[in-house]
Amino acid sequence: MSANNPLVSDRNVEFLLYEVFDAEALCRLPAYEEHSRETFDLVLQTARKFAREVLFPTYKAMDEAPAHMEGGGIKVHPLMKQLFPKLVEQGGVAMTRPHEVGGQQLPHTVATLVALYGMAANLSAVSYIGLTAGAAHLIETFGSEALKAEMMTRMYSGEWTGTMALTEPHAGSSLTDVKTTATPTAHGYHMLRGNKVFISGGDQDLTANIVHLALARIDGAPPGIKGVSLFAVPKLRVQEGKLVANDVQCAGAFHKMGWRGIPSIALNFGENDDCRGWLVGEPHRGISQMFQMMNEARLMVGMQGIATASVAYHEALEYARTRPQGRPLGSKNPSRPQVPIIEHADVRRMLLRQKAIVEGSLSLGVQAARYADLAAHAATPEERRRAFLLLEMMTPVVKSFAAEKGFESNALAVQVHGGYGYTSEYLPEAWLRDQKLNSIHEGTTCMHSMDLLGRKVVADQGGALRLLGDEIGVTVRRAAAAGLDAGLGSAIERAMALVGEVTMGLASLGLGGRVEEMMRHSVDYLDMFSTVVISWQWLLQAAVAREKLAGAPSAPSAELYEGKVCTAEYWIKTELPRVDHLAQLCRSGEDSYVRMNPGWF
Ligand SMILES: Cc1cc2nc3c(=O)[nH]c(=O)nc-3n(C[C@H](O)[C@H](O)[C@H](O)COP(=O)(O)OP(=O)(O)OC[C@H]3O[C@@H](n4cnc5c(N)ncnc54)[C@H](O)[C@@H]3O)c2cc1C
Repeated sequence: MSANNPLVSDRNVEFLLYEVFDAEALCRLPAYEEHSRETFDLVLQTARKFAREVLFPTYKAMDEAPAHMEGGGIKVHPLMKQLFPKLVEQGGVAMTRPHEVGGQQLPHTVATLVALYGMAANLSAVSYIGLTAGAAHLIETFGSEALKAEMMTRMYSGEWTGTMALTEPHAGSSLTDVKTTATPTAHGYHMLRGNKVFISGGDQDLTANIVHLALARIDGAPPGIKGVSLFAVPKLRVQEGKLVANDVQCAGAFHKMGWRGIPSIALNFGENDDCRGWLVGEPHRGISQMFQMMNEARLMVGMQGIATASVAYHEALEYARTRPQGRPLGSKNPSRPQVPIIEHADVRRMLLRQKAIVEGSLSLGVQAARYADLAAHAATPEERRRAFLLLEMMTPVVKSFAAEKGFESNALAVQVHGGYGYTSEYLPEAWLRDQKLNSIHEGTTCMHSMDLLGRKVVADQGGALRLLGDEIGVTVRRAAAAGLDAGLGSAIERAMALVGEVTMGLASLGLGGRVEEMMRHSVDYLDMFSTVVISWQWLLQAAVAREKLAGAPSAPSAELYEGKVCTAEYWIKTELPRVDHLAQLCRSGEDSYVRMNPGWF
């Protein structure tokens, strides 16, 4: 790995945080009034140093020797044992939570970027922290005071970890089919029985205990999704002041292509009829409550995708600057030295595409985090509602775009390395393996496309879509005032109008009961929608860059701004035109894969 790999560009983070999204303005909201640019810079500085000096050097060793099953439980990598207390000390578990529960009450806009550095350095190592944060937050929001005192506080302090225990062998995408059962008792807990699979961090030898936030059906519950409840199921339960086994068995670890620092395991609850679970929130409201953790996790998966693409992009950039090979097309004289491969136009094409994907999706990730802050803390109910609707609509886009295009970006990083990229001597192949998971866990891309088209864009009679149109309109006017080529803005507005027309057409099919036709090209719809949204984010970055260029910036800043304008032009001129084709597919009713009889394959 390159010693010069920054994992994430600090200057770009500063650009997004302060120049594009004005994070300092958040400090005017009562929830964040104790913060300032100084506190934001301090946490970011600490995170960068930790990521580069402590986390990144452990990545390769942990990828090569995965967490594994031994003696009925999971043994993590010895380096993970050293890292875990340091990760807890960084404050990541409760960074955005209020002081009352031991948090730092930091805006998501900043915390997201703090997390990004750790994810780029060693994705699976930091995911213990992310899972614990989400699980503890569920108990904070929906749990009883007793659960908060016993479990949440220990999770936020890092004494115990948490997991998300949803998936079962027959219930992955379809959580409606969860079969784990919960039998009420007279003692305030339920007896759980069932099998979960793929549970990340489901066992480990890092902490004294683990709390699984698990979905199960209370005996006699209604069928379907409305009969699923949420339980806190500890690996060890507190009994007479001691921790005793709670009949939660680790049934085996999956051998995975990536994310090797954290195990994904099969868990059995109640093999000996002695597994106690405590109801979290209301009975039968498990899925809607779990959505709090799932939505947080989806945005985090988006950031994981961006982080994994980012670290590989920076590695490829460094390699391209230092790897000599070949000569310019116009000067093939063999007596001349070879040039670094970055001199070849096609290598720059691959690097530019990676930059467009990484920095375009990062801009959207920060935009979404800002919506999350405003949805919770903006001054008026109208502003909070507006931010909430936009956040809801952007969640499947952040998650899926970063995962799908991030995979393409990671593959390009391998390609830039040529034959060396295909070897495990170099890290791009490992990041490519890590990235693949992001389009699968937390809902596959298809599930997110159906969420976007079937729920999010049609919510509030298309209200969220209109809000997005307004946001784009503001950016287009800003870009024009900054002096950017007017064709860029008008192309995005035209594409957005097309998205609106396609959505109305598809929604009317759905309203007419033709849901299968509405959803036939949902993945193409997601692709179309994401392409427009990322174009908007590029126009926004280019508009800010053009404004700054007018103010005679320093030479390094001018390079950043010129690069932003050039990348925006690249994306909008070469990628946005795909929207016409995707819109045509969505509207055409083209049905080859529906007609394709399974027997014909
Ligand atoms: C490494 C790893 C870590 C994980 N961590 C966790 C965790 O911590 N907690 C947890 O609960 N789960 C976890 N999961 C599970 C993960 O969320 C599921 O694997 C995922 O939701 C997909 O479910 P499945 O594997 O059963 O695939 P399936 O649902 O069987 O899907 C298989 C394919 O069919 C498609 N498909 C399925 N249904 C439909 C449909 N109705 N319409 C169209 N296409 C469909 C899917 O898009 C996919 O391409 C993890 C998985 C992995 C691999």
